[in-house]
Amino acid sequence: MMSSVMIILLVLCISCVFAPLQQVASDTSTQSRRIVIAASTMLDGKGHVLHDTRIVIEGTRIVAIDPKAAPVDYDLRGLTVLPGWIDAHVHITWSFGKDGKNAGPGETTPEAAYRAASNAWLTLMAGFTTVQSVGSPTDIPLRDSIAKGILPGPRILTAAEPLQGRGDRTGTPDEIRAYVRKQKEAGADLIKIFASQSIRQGGGQTLSQEQLNAACDEAKKQGLRTLVHAYKEAVRAATVAGCTQIEHGTLATDDDLKLMSEKGTYLDPQAGLVIENYLLNKEKYLGTPGYTEEGFAAMEKVLSMNHELVRRASKTPGLKIVFGTDAVAGAHGRNAEEFIDRVRDGGVDPMAAMVSANSMGAEALGMADQIGSIAPGLQADIIALDGDPLKDILAVRRVVFVMKGGVVYKNTHGALGR
Ligand SMILES: [Zn+2]
Repeated sequence: MMSSVMIILLVLCISCVFAPLQQVASDTSTQSRRIVIAASTMLDGKGHVLHDTRIVIEGTRIVAIDPKAAPVDYDLRGLTVLPGWIDAHVHITWSFGKDGKNAGPGETTPEAAYRAASNAWLTLMAGFTTVQSVGSPTDIPLRDSIAKGILPGPRILTAAEPLQGRGDRTGTPDEIRAYVRKQKEAGADLIKIFASQSIRQGGGQTLSQEQLNAACDEAKKQGLRTLVHAYKEAVRAATVAGCTQIEHGTLATDDDLKLMSEKGTYLDPQAGLVIENYLLNKEKYLGTPGYTEEGFAAMEKVLSMNHELVRRASKTPGLKIVFGTDAVAGAHGRNAEEFIDRVRDGGVDPMAAMVSANSMGAEALGMADQIGSIAPGLQADIIALDGDPLKDILAVRRVVFVMKGGVVYKNTHGALGR
């Protein structure tokens, strides 16, 4: 028989064991649930391949990489698991209007807003969990709706209204500085600068060295990065001005590329999708502002120049190349085609192509501590491909799983479910 003292001790003991457990249980119920993903092949986003591991997610973040974590919620074995891709250059609001023609970024009708929301959805479903839109003020409400979680889409960073180089008419250095500050006030995450004409019009330089210096210096003072649309000699001018990243870069010389590498300037070249998309949708663009027959004739020549640039750039030691598609109407959701173009036509190593849209892309955005790799503490932006892009780059077309910030938006592979 137990003495009453023993019973009291036992009760006390039970309560000392169970009280903390109950405490933990009630804490857990108020927290976001824990998710475990099993992967047989995982790219960490920094150039490493891990096998037979598990990713543990709590709330919006990855908390552990632990091969023994259980129970498994999503069994992605047999697929290639990697961080969600980052596209450094899109025009997320561009769409084709009711007449089937390119509406550009200017339309602000409800129809245009729905088409922009559709672009965001298609981009996310294609495995892109972060995009940089460069830019249109119409990006801002879309960016904010997605950030609040009231619309599905990739995380968006926007340049708001770009600075259009128009020679002397662009303004004095002080006026340019004021323009940069105005974009920041409007909610820009970065500053987009056009320092060259369109390549369809010859690609001549449209901002002086002094003007570029003012724009990129002021942005830096405001804590913003600068993306400069530049061809030929404008590539060097923007690099010398200390701008963050060069877009396109067509006809840059080997010396220009070397200088960019030395200065740590990022390059975002396009190996194919943007021009392929224009050619595919020629009738929808032709006759809309900036798109002429002569322009289309020029584009066919530019395509091979761009392959050649990507080839040279990827052989330039230390040059930081990011992934950006310049996706406009017709290309949203097909962003991954640019990987195929880079690997197939630009001779880029498939792993380098993946890293350019993961950790390198994140570094260029100043967000390496948030996105771009699969590691504890980072946002749970995780995708899976049916196939191995390192062996067959066409696998980038087969995105079967998309998680952004811990929320699963696509899972056509079949989850175990709990
Ligand atoms: Zn663009």
